[in-house]
Amino acid sequence: MNPPLQLSTEVLELRTRHPFRISRKGPEPIRTVLVRIRDADGVEGVGEATPQLFYGETIESVHAALTRYAAVLGHDPFDLEGIDRRMLLALTGNASARAAVSSALHDLVGKRLGVPVYRMWGLDPATIPLSTFTIGIDTPEVIRQKVREAAEYPILKIKLGSDNDLAILEAIRSETDRELRVDANCGWTVKQAVRMLPVLEEFGVTVLEQPLPAEDLDGLAVVTRHSRIPVFVDESCHVAADIPRLAGRVDGVNLKLAKCGSLREAIRLIHTARAHQLMVMVGCMVESSVSITAAAQVTPLVDFVDLDGAALLAEDPWTGATLAAGRLTLPTSPGLGVSPRGQ
Ligand code: MG
Repeated sequence: MNPPLQLSTEVLELRTRHPFRISRKGPEPIRTVLVRIRDADGVEGVGEATPQLFYGETIESVHAALTRYAAVLGHDPFDLEGIDRRMLLALTGNASARAAVSSALHDLVGKRLGVPVYRMWGLDPATIPLSTFTIGIDTPEVIRQKVREAAEYPILKIKLGSDNDLAILEAIRSETDRELRVDANCGWTVKQAVRMLPVLEEFGVTVLEQPLPAEDLDGLAVVTRHSRIPVFVDESCHVAADIPRLAGRVDGVNLKLAKCGSLREAIRLIHTARAHQLMVMVGCMVESSVSITAAAQVTPLVDFVDLDGAALLAEDPWTGATLAAGRLTLPTSPGLGVSPRGQ
């Protein structure tokens, strides 16, 4: 029998071009964990874990979880379902660590077969919707500057949920008439959200994401009932099993690898959402092109894309999917198609 798959890690230190702020947290240094998985023939796949303290993960917890997951990889990288199951049996939670392993395994398998992952799944990258570019919370002056710098992007995603929401919307509209989507990152109460709805409409907002705290599903149903703008959830939806209780309460869900824990679960979540007549967005954290390119593989299946995480970086240590003028282009090389920058 082949020797077991080998897992190794490396910490990536990432800096954003501007300090990045959303409703619950300020700017902070971003560290992610690059995961490499190598098979007996020396073929290697890579993935990236982007831990979020909000979901109980840190760099330290990712390393600890990966030690457990490395022990259950087994010998066969094609055993994708079995490895997902064994990781969950070994240790639940730790979604970003599991997502990194899943991405690395898909990269490895694609390389062994000589095809990009999306081709392996029969998906056509020509059908990927345009991606948004995110404007984090800041002073009106900095926001106007960010909007000017983001001139190439046709759709902007605006972070709200601070005390300055109206000033932010006014600052943005003073600069641009582009399409705007809003993410409040759990920052409002039901009353605030319902009061904001006509304001958002007046400013021409086309999508409202996570207006309320994650657990307030009944409140979300109230907001959705009052809203002419589609209401999406992000923090309220991690895995496919979350979908049935969201159905009928909201219009769509934002899928992220760092929450759902694997590429296989991402696809299950998309199909479950469709079966419940929910729309699907694919989103990301602030992370390198490794994670963005992994998430990008499922985008031919979804309605909305928000994969600007690597575009927000001052320097991205990896290359892969590219984002130009909001158009996401997937690499044509086997696996995920990512490489260290400069190679
Ligand atoms: Mg969000």
